[in-house]
Amino acid sequence: MNILRSTKCSTKFATQKKKDELQSVLQEYGRVVNTFVDHFWTKPLKSKTELLKPIVDIPQTWLSARLRKVAAREALDMISASKERWKDKPNKLVKPVHKGKRMYVSCTIAELTEAKHTPEFDAWLHIASVGNKITMDVPIKFHKHYNWLCAKGKRLNSYIVTENYIQFVFETETGPKKTGKNCIGIDTGINALASLSTGQQLGKDIKQAIERIKRCEHGSNGQLRAKRSLRQRIDEVAKQIVHIKDLDLIVVEKLKDMGKNSKLKRRLSRNIRRSIGAWNWRYWLGRLEQQCEWNRISFRAVLPFNTSITCPCCGHVDRGNRDGEIFHCQKCGHAGNADLNASWNVLSRFLTGPYGAGYKPLTCNFVQV
Ligand SMILES: [Zn+2]
Repeated sequence: MNILRSTKCSTKFATQKKKDELQSVLQEYGRVVNTFVDHFWTKPLKSKTELLKPIVDIPQTWLSARLRKVAAREALDMISASKERWKDKPNKLVKPVHKGKRMYVSCTIAELTEAKHTPEFDAWLHIASVGNKITMDVPIKFHKHYNWLCAKGKRLNSYIVTENYIQFVFETETGPKKTGKNCIGIDTGINALASLSTGQQLGKDIKQAIERIKRCEHGSNGQLRAKRSLRQRIDEVAKQIVHIKDLDLIVVEKLKDMGKNSKLKRRLSRNIRRSIGAWNWRYWLGRLEQQCEWNRISFRAVLPFNTSITCPCCGHVDRGNRDGEIFHCQKCGHAGNADLNASWNVLSRFLTGPYGAGYKPLTCNFVQV
């Protein structure tokens, strides 16, 4: 499987003059993108192959023809992304605006070369044909994450340039996905970040970490530090899970498309209240999925409803089954940890659903803990 990963290197080693230059190019680029957006908004193009000289020449600018073409493509992408996003609610559709903060450049304009004669840097990002006879060389220092990605895969020749950093993308071939049938279900919660259908609970300190963030003054350095340490903790737990021996598939609760279905939204908001907050949840699922990709583990999500109030033994659904962390079935009397029950329900929802059929007969049975 081919996966893409990105990393950012700071532009702080550039001189002030270069930074100013970069900023003015970005601003002009943004202005040109917006000119194109205005144009295509009223006169849409059918395909990018229609992007010929008369169109590329529309904006009055000192940017080179190459960069104008890049800007025109970006304008088209922005419009189609906005239309896609609001396709169900066309009345909300507004014309997108480029803020002049970032620019995508590919090998037609930019090239990364080793810094041979300047030992204080590792490389130069050379950006040619910006326009007005301007070329730019941004000094880059590689960091641990860059070198790590570099060792794992191949760097692609396209970059995102902003005033503060250059973003690089790497492509890595991880090999085929594992084909075994060893599945686990995961429930996400505030008492334990991850409760696994195997009976383990990981990240039991997550509640403290979140409370620390809430205690800090909003936007303060202390809060930033607390947020960073929470993210670090989430990363650690994600890694711990994918390194469980012989794991082939992970099932989680879905956290997507909340706007579409108000009933689902209500259920989700209930889940989030007993959980870690939508933002942290999204980050957590993202990290878990990325870790799965690296480790050739399949990652699936099921609809989140009633997972915490369904009895894993008899299937009885009742709000009264759950009291905080304690689960007690009103019908068959089964008792246990509510989050662990939920993780088992997540797994069984996948296995009994349309996509789980291939994983039967399942190797996982509900363990009473
Ligand atoms: Zn029961």
